[in-house]
Amino acid sequence: MDIEQANEQLERLRLEASGEAGKGKVASYIPELAKEDPHQLGISVCLSDGTILSAGEAQKPFTLQSISKIFSLIVALCQNGQQHVFERVGKEPTGDPFNSIIKLETIKPHKPLNPMINAGAIAVAGMIQGKSVQERLDCILDLLRRITGNPHIGVNEAVYCSEKKTAARNRALAWFLKDSGVLAGDVEETLDLYFRHCAIEVTAEEVARLGMALAADGVDVRTGDRVFPAEVARICKTFMVTCGMYNASGEFAIDVGIPAKSGVAGGIMATVPQRMGIGVFGPALDEKGNSVAGVKLLALLAKDWELGIF
Ligand code: GLU
Repeated sequence: MDIEQANEQLERLRLEASGEAGKGKVASYIPELAKEDPHQLGISVCLSDGTILSAGEAQKPFTLQSISKIFSLIVALCQNGQQHVFERVGKEPTGDPFNSIIKLETIKPHKPLNPMINAGAIAVAGMIQGKSVQERLDCILDLLRRITGNPHIGVNEAVYCSEKKTAARNRALAWFLKDSGVLAGDVEETLDLYFRHCAIEVTAEEVARLGMALAADGVDVRTGDRVFPAEVARICKTFMVTCGMYNASGEFAIDVGIPAKSGVAGGIMATVPQRMGIGVFGPALDEKGNSVAGVKLLALLAKDWELGIF
């Protein structure tokens, strides 16, 4: 691949997609996120030899939000094994919004349907082991720092505090999980870990590297080191297809056809098995919580570069 030409193609597609941003709105239920300029759009692609291609706001820091749910799941699976994790959280997609509480009560047993919705991710956070919240958070940070090669990856304190102060819905989910026996241990500590891992700050370029590690079945292509088992990567990529784009996952699978996970700060991590990781940042969201311009950009890129896996 000619790098210069590929960067030009990315910029052309980015410009074409950026018009979509006007159709969305930045998330405001976490007040700190509402400060973002909705018109930003950045993309980075990490190839299987570690080469990075970029266009637009690829170096602008943003918080992972729900993208972090993939990495907390990786840590929980590595520490506890599949049986323990999936006894407490399901494997089924849901047609409900990411923060919905309804099925938690109506479906029996009362376990969250999957680890990509908030209830499931809070249950997963509860399984991460360590003597303190900081030690549990460090398990996730260490993984991210190792894959990205950036030892300074950390939590955006303003976003973390902003969510912590306003997270009535997530508190309701967590306490319901406690009541149902899904969540063991201290609820406020687990919520604190969840808010912190959602507020981990990255760039689109770093997200592309994270996506590439999943594409390479758990191998860091920069160093050749295995960072998590291939079986864990397989599980995560499957969740990305079935539940990664909230209740628009089916539509995204048909229109774009790449395993992907989005977050309400406007990030999307996509992973094209064996070939590339893609990081996108575009904070204006559609009503389901996905970056409008980001989804458009991935659709254009998937078509142009024939990236769809189906
Ligand atoms: N921290 C966010 C929340 O719990 C994450 C949601 C998301 O990105 O989907 O609401």
